Amino acid sequence: MSLIVQKFGGSSVANAERVMNVAGIVTDTYNKGNDVIVVVSAQGDTTDDLIEKAKEINPHASKRETDMLLSAGEQISISLLAMAIEKLGYPVVSLLGWQAGFQTTSAHTSARIKRVVPDRIKKELDQRRIVIVAGFQGLNRYDDITTLGRGGSDTSAVAIATALHADLCQIYTDVEGVYTADPRKVKKAIKLKEISYDEMLELATLGAQVLNNRSVEMAKKYNIELEVLSSLTKAPGTLVKENAKMEKMLISGVAKDTDVARISVTGIPDRPGLAFKMFAKLSAKDINVDIILQSIGRNDTKDISFTVAKSKGEEAVAILQDYINVIGAKEVLYDDNIAKVSIVGAGMESHAGVASKMFEALYDSHINIQMISTSEIKVSVLIDKNDADTAVAAIHSKFFE
Ligand code: ADP
Ligand code: ASP
Ligand code: MG
Repeated sequence: MSLIVQKFGGSSVANAERVMNVAGIVTDTYNKGNDVIVVVSAQGDTTDDLIEKAKEINPHASKRETDMLLSAGEQISISLLAMAIEKLGYPVVSLLGWQAGFQTTSAHTSARIKRVVPDRIKKELDQRRIVIVAGFQGLNRYDDITTLGRGGSDTSAVAIATALHADLCQIYTDVEGVYTADPRKVKKAIKLKEISYDEMLELATLGAQVLNNRSVEMAKKYNIELEVLSSLTKAPGTLVKENAKMEKMLISGVAKDTDVARISVTGIPDRPGLAFKMFAKLSAKDINVDIILQSIGRNDTKDISFTVAKSKGEEAVAILQDYINVIGAKEVLYDDNIAKVSIVGAGMESHAGVASKMFEALYDSHINIQMISTSEIKVSVLIDKNDADTAVAAIHSKFFE
């Protein structure tokens, strides 16, 4: 007998038929004698719809009330799935995040899981019940409901698997695994049998939405092997693990992120300390800066450009507007008509020419590169947003086809 955590994303529970389908998968697993804990997301586009509903009433609603609203999506799906399992004649109980013992930081809408106290889950498992847990939510130390940020249910699943030392953590979704590019956009994308935590973490962070990056971070930290697979077919999925065999591939995937904005601060006086102070002001407000480019100083001034998440763009510009007045820089420019396209692969550490192959693919498609950033296992470029899908296809075909 094993303890198995199964997570189902929004599209896997989008309607009554899909909910019954999931009930079938869960009860099959239970029938084999396993203890089963199921984590579910809100149905279909529920979370997006709730965000729209909030905007109609108050576009500046507090984050606390936003969490109160968004967490309702998962309450609907856990109860419906439990009802479906009752209908099939199995013992089942649904639990909200707080009932399942999810304790989080207090940062509403982007809380982090501090710990899972699984006493209630254990009691229910001891009664041989299937336990259905609401993903994406928890409780902070003020007893207020928090949410974990978009895509957070993946992290809920890994956190439960960690707290209960599960034997297996399966992430069921609407594609058959992790591919070399988004299979909905790139028809020739190849399904990977295995991928390492490090490469998956980069892919997830750089825009491959199939797993939330925090979930991969946690899986790596606690060595929880993940299996990503489809709830709609029985095809074998992708294993995410420490020592993945990558079948001699130079790179493991291409990812696209359109949630980026570029900010340029021009005419900064060319003296030490100003860049440091500028970035310190942003980090004090929890604004993460990614690709950074500084021009060579001329006429005793320089320009610095960098990227931030679009959602942080407005706040970052406001902070920098104040700052340029203090230091006497020229202006703050903002552009969100851009995309970040990246290749990821442990193979590039030991092979020269991977980046140039990527740049060649872009050149062949007449796509201009605006900024570049690299690490041991990834190369990212910033390009015009309208070129992003063409770029992904061209790079994918250069490396894989
Ligand atoms: P869920 O609702 O199950 O959490 P998501 O929509 O969050 O599902 O993630 C699954 C989606 O991720 C797929 O439908 C696919 O379009 C997208 N995706 C992006 N990059 C990749 C990739 N490299 N491999 C697989 N899927 C990807
Ligand atoms: N329902 C939440 C979202 O749409 C959490 C998740 O799907 O993982 O972001
Ligand atoms: Mg998801």
